[in-house]
Amino acid sequence: MRRKAAAARTAKLETLEIGDGVSEVTAKRGRLRLVPHAKKVALGGVIVEQVAGDELLLLCGPQRGATVNGEPAPPVAVVGEKDQIALDEAAESIAYVAVYREPNVGPATGSIVGNICPVCRTAVRKGTRVYRCSNCGTTIHLEQPDESPEADGDGDVFDCALRVPNCPGCRRPIQLHEGYSWVPEV
Ligand SMILES: [Zn+2]
Ligand SMILES: [Zn+2]
Repeated sequence: MRRKAAAARTAKLETLEIGDGVSEVTAKRGRLRLVPHAKKVALGGVIVEQVAGDELLLLCGPQRGATVNGEPAPPVAVVGEKDQIALDEAAESIAYVAVYREPNVGPATGSIVGNICPVCRTAVRKGTRVYRCSNCGTTIHLEQPDESPEADGDGDVFDCALRVPNCPGCRRPIQLHEGYSWVPEV
């Protein structure tokens, strides 16, 4: 899964996409920028790395003038969705943490066949269209009206993922479309 931090400056949103490995958020001409896969670490920035559970690990040296949610950043911080990161050197921009999600939707195959959908409490059959939670792996029916092998003649569609706002397994929002989980209002 890719995770991204979006930097806001006046009314324009820029994306700082944080990939695998260690990156650095730094300031250039008063704006935040991202140095991906930072090999050499400058002293002006904040080291960022993805950790489990949609979170980012930040390493902030005392000389870096970094803030998290408006407070001086501790040497080590874990931030998640909606947290704000800023640097004194780029006071006009704030980086907001947002999570980019690609929903995992498709026909049930392999080991997920037979999983119990927590919404309707029936087993998932092979080939049934399902949504899988990217966070906890819970499998939930997501059939469409015209492709319902589990419909038993009376037109029932097992579109369970449309009936609940949050994953029953981990309470994270069910997101059916690719994109940011949240976009800051600027
Ligand atoms: Zn179901
Ligand atoms: Zn879940």
